[in-house]
Amino acid sequence: MSAKGKVEINRELCKGCRYCVIACPKGVLEIEDSLNGMGYFPARAAKKELCTGCALCARMCPEVSIEVWAPD
Ligand code: SF4
Ligand code: SF4
Repeated sequence: MSAKGKVEINRELCKGCRYCVIACPKGVLEIEDSLNGMGYFPARAAKKELCTGCALCARMCPEVSIEVWAPD
């Protein structure tokens, strides 16, 4: 069994810039079709099961709204 990472996005901090969506090599992330409280379409982890915990998305995020846990 391969080790899995974990990713969580705080949708209320996200400004919908898409940097994380573009950065993710596994296609885990996508932009939601509903607005957050700030009036942005936020990113969400649509395919969490594919996340490797590489943290490229979190490093790209200018709003520091992504948390990543690497595999044990
Ligand atoms: S940690 Fe890596 S694999 Fe997981 S969502 Fe972020 S960029 Fe994609
Ligand atoms: S990089 Fe950060 S602010 Fe930009 S869409 Fe992703 S989570 Fe939102």
